[in-house]
Amino acid sequence: MECPFCKAEMIKGYLQCGTALWSTKKHKVSIFPGKNEQYAFRVKLPMVSGNYIESDCCPKCKRLIIDTSAYENNLE
Ligand SMILES: [Zn+2]
Repeated sequence: MECPFCKAEMIKGYLQCGTALWSTKKHKVSIFPGKNEQYAFRVKLPMVSGNYIESDCCPKCKRLIIDTSAYENNLE
């Protein structure tokens, strides 16, 4: 995949994490989104191991691109 910012070839890999939430508000403690809060990406901690989110990393400008379409969200 070509980086849309700098056009370098991106490296395919995995974002390894526990719980994660991308939303329109900051959360200091919990990752439970509020009623009027939009969120695009939410993963809970699995029972056995962490999450492995397939993603692309740009070696030049260091940006990550994650296709979040397969994950829990409340966007339309
Ligand atoms: Zn780039």
